[in-house]
Amino acid sequence: MFKAFLIKYAEIGVKGKNRDLFEAALAQQIKYALRRCEGEFRIRRTRGRIYIDVLSDYDYEETVENLKTVCGVSGICPMVELEDEGFDRLCEAAVSYLQGQYPSGEFSFKVNARRARKNYPKTSMEINADMGERILDAFPRARVDVHRPEVMLSVEIREKIYLYSIEIPGPGGMPVGTNGKAMLLLSGGIDSPVAGYMVAKRGVKIDAVYFHAPPYTSERAKQKVVDLARLVARYSGPIYLHVINFTDIQLAIYEKCPHDELTIIMRRYMMRIAEEIAKNTECLGLITGESIGQVASQTMQSLAVTNEVCTLPVFRPCIGLDKQEIVEISEKIGTYETSIQPYEDCCTIFVAKHPVTKPSLSVIKRHEEALADCMDELMKKALETDELIVVEA
Ligand code: ATP
Ligand code: MG
Repeated sequence: MFKAFLIKYAEIGVKGKNRDLFEAALAQQIKYALRRCEGEFRIRRTRGRIYIDVLSDYDYEETVENLKTVCGVSGICPMVELEDEGFDRLCEAAVSYLQGQYPSGEFSFKVNARRARKNYPKTSMEINADMGERILDAFPRARVDVHRPEVMLSVEIREKIYLYSIEIPGPGGMPVGTNGKAMLLLSGGIDSPVAGYMVAKRGVKIDAVYFHAPPYTSERAKQKVVDLARLVARYSGPIYLHVINFTDIQLAIYEKCPHDELTIIMRRYMMRIAEEIAKNTECLGLITGESIGQVASQTMQSLAVTNEVCTLPVFRPCIGLDKQEIVEISEKIGTYETSIQPYEDCCTIFVAKHPVTKPSLSVIKRHEEALADCMDELMKKALETDELIVVEA
């Protein structure tokens, strides 16, 4: 029944030349989302609006589900497409559309006509008034409310005529590709995929790095990270996932540093390597799933010590969220079920029973000196293991 969609986006800050870049990026991401859907579609950009025409049979639910992953989309309006067969026929179609959508017949409404084709025999105001009357005739329990209608029936007069009244919320934010690129430290947990999604939603393209420690972490743990990247890629577009073999670094830390500081020192090396890859791939920042106080390595002191090795900005979009709030987002974006599969990532293997919660930077730095003679070489070797996996949704 719906042969077209109007795509709405938040217009703040998208004026002039920016609007064009913004719309082009949005159209690109819509195209990427529609590639996952059965059917043939055409994207049209006209006068500050984006439309999708459906050119073949298609699956409505699937299409809407995929459009809901496009960052920058604030609303998705499925539209009925009609040939212009005169105003009477248009009103009949509007009434039958409303009957289908609001079978109780009890609603307040407003008709909101727009003419892109000025040779239509009625003005917008006339369409609003005359169609309003016809609707009132057909629905005795309906009433007009021009200020806060329950049903806003939009009528667009173009070559063809479009009716719509439903707006399905999109994720909001900005289209990926309008705000540079950042490197996500992606583990198999709940938080980092959410962090990646939240930054992508601000228009940032995402690359990712996963630290793998075979044989302590299994192939299945790595596969889980690839699966998570694929789920995030629904929102962010294709992700270049770097898999780094971290085993030798981890063993060296295990051998030479105090065990209660393992996690924090390991996190510092992860950040160092991630930053190296980020700089080589034009990423402008790092992203982690850290949240203040969630675990010993995420206290304010630990975060300060971890952060100290980075020169790029580190974005931590989950920083102020409770676990439950992060879980809710992960459920909404569809990563939760995968995140809770029980395959250990390398953070969880080498953890001390009582990790430091208030590490001192000077103490940590002193203990890292035990690694001075081997670490340059180990870091270089780890970077050489970089396995690049291009992950697409
Ligand atoms: P997550 O649910 O994202 O795994 P977490 O609560 O388990 O987070 P940690 O394991 O302490 O927290 O990790 C903190 C952050 O460090 C993660 O959110 C992620 O960004 C990064 N990280 C941890 N382990 C890895 C890994 N093996 N590879 C890449 N990044 C990692
Ligand atoms: Mg983790």
